[in-house]
Amino acid sequence: MEWFRLLSLRKVPARAQTQTTESDMLSYDVVEWGKPLEKAERETPKPNGTEVLLTLKYCGVCHSDVHIRDGYFELGGGKRLLMSDRGMTLPATLGHEPYGTVIAAGPEAGDVPIGADRLVYPWMGCGICARCREGLDNYCMAARMIGIQRRGGYADHLLVPHPRYLIDASGIDPAWAATLSCSGLSTYSAVSKLNPIPREEWVAVIGVGGLGLTAIGMLRAMGHERIIAVDVDAAKLNAAEVAGAAATIDSRDVEVAKKLQQIAGGPIYGAIDLVGNTDTASFALGALRKGGRLILVGLYGGEIPLSLAATIQRALTIQGSHLGSVAELKEVVALAREGKLRPIPFQKRPLSEVSRTLDELKAGAILGRVVVEM
Ligand SMILES: [Zn+2]
Ligand SMILES: [Zn+2]
Repeated sequence: MEWFRLLSLRKVPARAQTQTTESDMLSYDVVEWGKPLEKAERETPKPNGTEVLLTLKYCGVCHSDVHIRDGYFELGGGKRLLMSDRGMTLPATLGHEPYGTVIAAGPEAGDVPIGADRLVYPWMGCGICARCREGLDNYCMAARMIGIQRRGGYADHLLVPHPRYLIDASGIDPAWAATLSCSGLSTYSAVSKLNPIPREEWVAVIGVGGLGLTAIGMLRAMGHERIIAVDVDAAKLNAAEVAGAAATIDSRDVEVAKKLQQIAGGPIYGAIDLVGNTDTASFALGALRKGGRLILVGLYGGEIPLSLAATIQRALTIQGSHLGSVAELKEVVALAREGKLRPIPFQKRPLSEVSRTLDELKAGAILGRVVVEM
């Protein structure tokens, strides 16, 4: 059985797996929470079982890594989500937008495209529970995500537990493709939860930073035009118009629920809240029509009092949206490949500048996305 299995592996002779893994791998690691990343060298892992090894070309630098490096997310009201409670141990290699070349695979990995470039889906679960088996890794209760619980993409090599997490993104600029696995996927999954959106209905996008602009791009890519952008920042609202919003609301000095209904000519069909504080969720809910939907994405960390009777009588849906599935990432890549989704502005930097890049992200000094290059 074993010799048959080895023979049947396309272009994966067992010897090639050891030849590619002799030198040490390089990474930039969190050694102490909140401190600059430190350069580390360790033995390049050898893929076992179903594992696949890649040499990385790119990894997008996500703003959430600023919080992960600090070791916590602020949840508001003095509460914190600690990364150590999420199964993270130090030293850790962050980076959850990796893209690279498949160079080796374990004996159980099956038909693996050795030598091909692949985007990596990072939000993997345990791999064995019912959610993981149906492809909803992002709903797994024992998450084992790349760049959080597993070693991530701020490195020159990456070990992926199974080839089903590799996605063919050929035909797209690979540096941009890398960024699709976090912000692209999160917004696509959120917007999809409003589908099917009737053409004549209005959707509010609340908070138009990077995620909000991507959400507007996703709605437009899906063919929806009646989009109202809401933010406190005039420059961001201008960017939202450029991205394709049909109307904008500066939320500082108006009653937003009323203004939304004025623009839409009545209560609105849906809202995507990319901020997630008491104010934004309250005015979004207040603006919804019967059967309306509020999709929560932003992790600002607020609370709202909710009238249960009104929720029933107005037949409202309030749904959280966290990351997305492997199948959804494939759909995002297809939208990008078809040219329906436009690239966000990004710049390339060498991997050695990743820690400085996190500092600049923390200071709000980066427009668009930085992608580190190995
Ligand atoms: Zn991210
Ligand atoms: Zn699972």
